[in-house]
Amino acid sequence: MTNKRSIIIFWALFLVPTLIIAGIAVKLLSHEQDRVNQSAIHALSERAKTISETIHLTVEAVQENLTQSLLEIDPKNLQKILAAWEKTNPLVRNVFIYRKGRDLEYPVRGMESTLEERRFIVRYDSLFTGRMKFDFNADSSKNEAKIKTAKESSSGSGRYDSAPQKQTKSSRQKLVALSRVVQKAPASDQQAFFSDETKYQLTKKAGWIPWFNENRLSILGWVQKHENGPVYGIELELMTLLSRLVVDFPGISEKGAALVMLDGNGDFMHQSGRWVADPKEKPIEVVLISNLLPHWQIAVFIKDKGFGSNRGFLMISILLLGIFITAIISGGILLTRLTLQNMKDARQKTSFVSSVSHELKTPLTSIRMYAELLFSKRIKDSAKIQTYLSVIVNESERLTRLINNVLDFGKLEQGKKAYRLTTFEMDQLLDQIIQAHSLRIESQGIEIITQVDKGDYHIKTDRDAMEQVILNLLDNALKYAGKGKFIKFILEKEEAFIFLKICDDGPGIPKAQRQAVFEKFYRVDNSLTSQQPGSGLGLSIARQILTDLEGDLIFDPMPGNGSCFTIRIKQHESH
Ligand code: ADP
Repeated sequence: MTNKRSIIIFWALFLVPTLIIAGIAVKLLSHEQDRVNQSAIHALSERAKTISETIHLTVEAVQENLTQSLLEIDPKNLQKILAAWEKTNPLVRNVFIYRKGRDLEYPVRGMESTLEERRFIVRYDSLFTGRMKFDFNADSSKNEAKIKTAKESSSGSGRYDSAPQKQTKSSRQKLVALSRVVQKAPASDQQAFFSDETKYQLTKKAGWIPWFNENRLSILGWVQKHENGPVYGIELELMTLLSRLVVDFPGISEKGAALVMLDGNGDFMHQSGRWVADPKEKPIEVVLISNLLPHWQIAVFIKDKGFGSNRGFLMISILLLGIFITAIISGGILLTRLTLQNMKDARQKTSFVSSVSHELKTPLTSIRMYAELLFSKRIKDSAKIQTYLSVIVNESERLTRLINNVLDFGKLEQGKKAYRLTTFEMDQLLDQIIQAHSLRIESQGIEIITQVDKGDYHIKTDRDAMEQVILNLLDNALKYAGKGKFIKFILEKEEAFIFLKICDDGPGIPKAQRQAVFEKFYRVDNSLTSQQPGSGLGLSIARQILTDLEGDLIFDPMPGNGSCFTIRIKQHESH
């Protein structure tokens, strides 16, 4: 009882802190995982912001350059140059020239315009009919500030970009360069252009109008150089702008995360990342790209909370924690098992001592009793004398076997038992044993049945050890067969093995204990066993001896009732 309580206390002291530590560790780890994830999400949204800023700057530069280029157009060739832009510059979707109070000058309303032009006119109808002013959204000071003088801009290299040209340009630079349209006007025209400027009062109004039509964004850029001059400009080709902008969209290495560019309707226009985001999912973070592209956004999508390679961190940590706890608990289980085993051994040894003493006492008492009777010479009947003497012999033999078992047990435990191998015939040994013990067996009213298959039973093994094994099994059959009627010895050969079966028709061994009976000190807990002397060593010694001699001892229930113990031993090569 106290032992049980000590084990419970041991486990409580052992498990409670382990589990508390494990719980805290898992909590800390998942906190850490959350923190790592949060910072990964933060990094992604920072990246989205950087991308937005880059896009904003690019679009701004494109618009500035286009404004500048528009302002630089020679008024005399205005329509020609604009029409040429529309044809050649992929950034320009449509061009227009509008004069206040005089409707559109270009494209011309009516039959001669193309379908695209007609759609364009309809799209911006309120502007081209004068219902809305071009500068309705203008922050004039800002626009003015952005307009450089024609001279300033023409002082550039004359190429697309005033900055020193690099051999390789990023697509962003290429896009900006594309917006810097060079005017290929003849020198005389240039002259006229500058003189033209002096004739009128320069106002240089300009602006960009993000325009929503049927929920689609389009962008119109316009300039008006003089108070009474025409308003002219271009509509940006957003597809070109977009296709060039997304080239520089950075790839992201995090697994299960994506950066997606969305238009005003929330439609995916571009996405980067190895994982493909689902448009139906909600983004974890949204960044507006720029007021130049109203409602366009960059959204951060993640597959789940523990996205990316960081998930491995938690997995490995939990795995290590698992291994650690398993190791601790396994150690605990091992210790408990050892303790229980030691306790069992101690109990068994105590009961072994008492059962051996009891077993020694029984034959000794009969030997002494019969010897005293004979010694007193009171018994005259020679038959009786003969019986008493045979009892003395049998009991002393039993005593010898018991002592041999106990002695052998010690040696076998330490692996010190020495075997003396000799060659002999197994059938002869069996015959000899049966003859020597037939009186003892038959006196209990038990019939001996022998069934020896024809053949050669020549073996090389330790004869005394083999005899000890057979006698242990025979003793058991006599002790535990209860009201059994026979003991059967079956000797047979199969391939290179000799099998000796010793069977009885007693109550047999319950299924659950059929393996346990081979353990040292083990005795079946039933009334039959408790009535018989025994130490629980016979079968374990028999099996150990046979294993040492490269054989085995197997239990099989007898069909119906009873037990059958089979000795299996390797046959010696025939001479
Ligand atoms: P012991 O005979 O000294 O108790 P053994 O190791 O020889 O120890 O046997 C272990 C137990 O196996 C016995 O206590 C008995 O309960 C059971 N047993 C062995 N042989 C038989 C048998 N022939 N029939 C029924 N039970 C048996």
